[in-house]
Amino acid sequence: MPSPADSTLPPLAGLDTPDLDWRQDETDRLAPHSIAFDDVYFSRHDGRAETEHVFIQANRLPERFASWHATRPFVIGETGFGTGLNVLCAWACFMEHAPPGVRLHIVSTERFPLARDDLARALATWPAFAAPARRLLDQWPEAVAGVHRLWLDARVILDLHFGDSTQMLNQLDGRVDAWFLDGFAPGKNPDMWQPELFAAMAAASRPGASAATFTCAGVVKRGLKAAGFAWRKVPGFGRKREMLVAELTEPPVDESRRHSTWFVPPAPRPAGHVAVIGAGLAGTSVAHALARRGVAVTLIDRDGPAAGASGNRQGALYVKLAAETNAQSRCYLAGLLHSRRWLETLDPEQTLWRECGVLQRAAGEREARRQRRFLDGHPLPASVVRGVDNDAAGGLAGWPLETGGLDYPRAGWVDPAALCRRLADTPGVHLRGGEVTSLDAVDGGWSLRFSDGDGLVADQVVIAAASLANRFAQSAWLPLQAIRGQVSHLALTDAAPRPRRVVCAGGYVSPPRDGILTFGATFHPNVTDTTPSKADHAANLAELERTLPGYLAALRDAGVDLDPARLHGRTAVRAASPDKTPYAGPLPDAAAWKHDYAALAKDARRRVPDTPGRHHPGLWISAAHGSRGLASAPLCAELIASRVCDEPLPLPRELVDHLHPGRRLIAELIRGTAR
Ligand code: SAM
Repeated sequence: MPSPADSTLPPLAGLDTPDLDWRQDETDRLAPHSIAFDDVYFSRHDGRAETEHVFIQANRLPERFASWHATRPFVIGETGFGTGLNVLCAWACFMEHAPPGVRLHIVSTERFPLARDDLARALATWPAFAAPARRLLDQWPEAVAGVHRLWLDARVILDLHFGDSTQMLNQLDGRVDAWFLDGFAPGKNPDMWQPELFAAMAAASRPGASAATFTCAGVVKRGLKAAGFAWRKVPGFGRKREMLVAELTEPPVDESRRHSTWFVPPAPRPAGHVAVIGAGLAGTSVAHALARRGVAVTLIDRDGPAAGASGNRQGALYVKLAAETNAQSRCYLAGLLHSRRWLETLDPEQTLWRECGVLQRAAGEREARRQRRFLDGHPLPASVVRGVDNDAAGGLAGWPLETGGLDYPRAGWVDPAALCRRLADTPGVHLRGGEVTSLDAVDGGWSLRFSDGDGLVADQVVIAAASLANRFAQSAWLPLQAIRGQVSHLALTDAAPRPRRVVCAGGYVSPPRDGILTFGATFHPNVTDTTPSKADHAANLAELERTLPGYLAALRDAGVDLDPARLHGRTAVRAASPDKTPYAGPLPDAAAWKHDYAALAKDARRRVPDTPGRHHPGLWISAAHGSRGLASAPLCAELIASRVCDEPLPLPRELVDHLHPGRRLIAELIRGTAR
């Protein structure tokens, strides 16, 4: 499995935003000009007309959209998102020409994302795009390397791949139908227009994919041809005599998972009706992700939405990132940024969550050193995470602290139960009670048996049942650890001080909700009893003292009753994997993997067998989210829904594979511990 050292992903860091010079175009509008590249973002003559000619018409998008009837989305790939003008034009063209019900997916790379204000200023040039531009600006991500998924419209997804075009396209898990080859003139930006870029495009193309570009430079013609595209010249825009259009006529052999054939995804299959087992955060977010793509979902839970660990009063939207970059931290940071944007779109009024910030206190010298190493190795924007000293930390928390920590200003707390209910309410999701006891493959789908003898048939099934996710014959091999956790609730008096941020050290405490302070949680591996205990409340009080030292004394002074025997709370069972990364992906046929990859047990370095991983067809899993499901479950839901619906994935391939449940089987085969 890839180790950080051989990762081809960009560093986990912030990206530089470009310095712009605003110059008057021919119609007296101010248009952005790149100082570093000394080039324009769009034509000074008429940017919009240029986009229509060079990218939209040359790729024949009006006709192709009009005749698009597939259940998967039409996919556009772009190098150089810039101001987003091309994307807004493609989106408008899609809305005008595509039949109702079909979808558009745009993947666009950008190495130097515009600062939000610059983007707003550039887009203000196009009054006709005011509403779509607002939709884009509202979701504009932080300048952090990686993939950022935006929903432009109920039918249009934009995946921004922040990083170098070649690097990001090499990691794209998805196939493109039409390319916009933009990215400043080859003479001004030779670094991007390398043979590797065209090879990466070809590898990420559907057979017959088209491409269009404003330039006829030799390096582009040679690069396209060598990668398997047949190009021809057509009249250019305005004063440019010629431009290029191309078609992929010789698709390359797919070698993207040559060294890890087990992760080759299963072929797409019909997904008219999907059953999701488990209505916690993992299950409800998958149900919502599928339903918004037009899939009929039956969401099944024995006890209704959020009956398990997702039913707590308040949950922290937080992550713990490793000092040294690893795939798990990359997944969690991507998940945190995704959840934040997703919550904002789902609930802009913040009725289900609060952006109060999360402070990760360095409670000891060891943790302080770890946090310093993390900050030194990961120069991320301060709006994502920053180091704060004890004074600043105390000011943020609303309570004096002797040590500083890591502050995530845009994180916060969520009401997970209300969130699950909202997601379960998505049109197209049918909530059904009952306990599923077994799954049987039946022609082209699955038959689900319930404990009361009832049955249900679905095309595909997603298992999202936390610690019960491995109760089925097909998933019994999956290592899952049950962890009992209890949170405590404390009724505050009016005089009692209140934390203003979520503060974590070992446990966490949230700002109070309706006068009730939530803090916890205990951590008891392999315990499934959910009877609340006084001992657990006492442990939570001790942890609160560590998280906010001196706070308990102030509560006592304010007359708050701190007797653990009289505290209320909630106990639930969470589930974790041995490596603490969630499972999100197709469910391997464990017996077939043990047979096909037996050679790994003898020598993990020998040639990887050519056989792609065999999976239980149409069976998926989202589980092992532990106590960080608010940061991981929504992104994992998008990952599964994207795979089910045969669209590009919202994470680089390396991270998609890191989340694949089959990683455990491969690790066990290599170690010789497979059962
Ligand atoms: N398509 C854009 C639009 O609709 O506004 C205009 C693109 S502008 C001409 C070129 C863009 O390519 C710039 O935003 C620049 O930062 C980006 N770029 C340059 N080199 C790049 C690279 N190696 N990888 C990704 N993006 C790059």
